[in-house]
Amino acid sequence: MEALSRAWPAAALSYGAHSNLCVNQLARHASAEAAAAYLPGLVDGSAVGGLAMSEPAAGSDVMGMTTTAAPATRGSDGAAGWVLHGAKAWCTNAPIADVLVIYAVTHPEAASKGSRLTAFAVETASAGLTVGRPLAKIGMTASPTADVHLDGVWVPASAVLGEPGGGAAVLMSGLNSERLVLAGGPLGIMEAALDVVVPYVRERRQFGVPVGSFGLMQGKVADMVTATAATRAHVYAVAAEMDAEGEEAGGDGGGGGRRRMNVEAASVILAAAEAAVAVTGEAVQALGGNGYCVEYGVGGLWADAKLYTIGAGTSEIRRTLVGKAVVGGEGGGGGDDAVWGR
Ligand SMILES: Cc1cc2nc3c(=O)[nH]c(=O)nc-3n(C[C@H](O)[C@H](O)[C@H](O)COP(=O)(O)OP(=O)(O)OC[C@H]3O[C@@H](n4cnc5c(N)ncnc54)[C@H](O)[C@@H]3O)c2cc1C
Repeated sequence: MEALSRAWPAAALSYGAHSNLCVNQLARHASAEAAAAYLPGLVDGSAVGGLAMSEPAAGSDVMGMTTTAAPATRGSDGAAGWVLHGAKAWCTNAPIADVLVIYAVTHPEAASKGSRLTAFAVETASAGLTVGRPLAKIGMTASPTADVHLDGVWVPASAVLGEPGGGAAVLMSGLNSERLVLAGGPLGIMEAALDVVVPYVRERRQFGVPVGSFGLMQGKVADMVTATAATRAHVYAVAAEMDAEGEEAGGDGGGGGRRRMNVEAASVILAAAEAAVAVTGEAVQALGGNGYCVEYGVGGLWADAKLYTIGAGTSEIRRTLVGKAVVGGEGGGGGDDAVWGR
């Protein structure tokens, strides 16, 4: 993610949605039938995957989704399965995807909100599934994003990921890995900003000297380099910790004695995303008028970085999650609400 994002942030975002939000979840939770049908193509690159979880009225409050799936037999042969109705929003890769991981409410009466959902692997070619027009965005423009409409989409029983009613567990088991892996995105974007700024301030002359020879400009570059190095150290430290003892490395969803890493994973994407927005903003400043023109690309890097404070969970939700988990106490002590929040 870091290297791809340094070269092309939008390609990295699409890769991250494909590999982490879709393939990783299928590899962990798909039935043998669905794994055999989808994973070879998704892994060799001939097929594209994505995640359709958010809805027009359920972004941060992802557990408030209203898309439903009900048991239903197929008319033609009586095969057991489910039928999905609803609408999903801002789905990365939807216009080019072959398979989507889709969450739906299957057990609305469940006492615990964690038991209301089921995750499904759904082919975008399924009858009743339509993808909206790619959304016009301020950044990440080469990564197509669209709404997904589900109008009576029938899927076989083998499409269920994990267990019926176990959607929240599937969601949770991938969330920390998702946050960590995506933190490589803003890190690579910061490196991309430095790739432009350092040569520029060496070459661009004002008052008869390179602008990089001014102390204020050197301070700006120093702050950018320092923020990038701090982010790199943070991302790699959490990655090493997750490899060594985190629940994600074991793929066991927190079992097997491995440690859940909610705080570490939410902190690292929170810090990396906000640092990248600051660094790319300074990159625009360092290029002056050229920074404000699209040709030099640093404004685009700012818009690309900004996605990471919103997509896959906002900075506010990440702060809330970390704060509640660390502080605890009355009124929400790192319990369900802190964890479920996207
Ligand atoms: C380019 C892009 C790609 C995306 N790709 C995907 C994808 O592939 N799959 C997918 O499922 N989703 C995807 N999303 C959706 C993304 O996950 C949501 O946009 C995000 O979770 C925020 O939800 P929202 O937009 O509804 O904002 P809202 O939840 O409406 O939030 C609006 C504002 O209120 C704040 N807020 C909300 N609740 C609280 C709270 N409890 N406390 C404090 N502040 C709060 C938010 O932080 C935000 O500032 C994508 C979004 C974008 C922009």
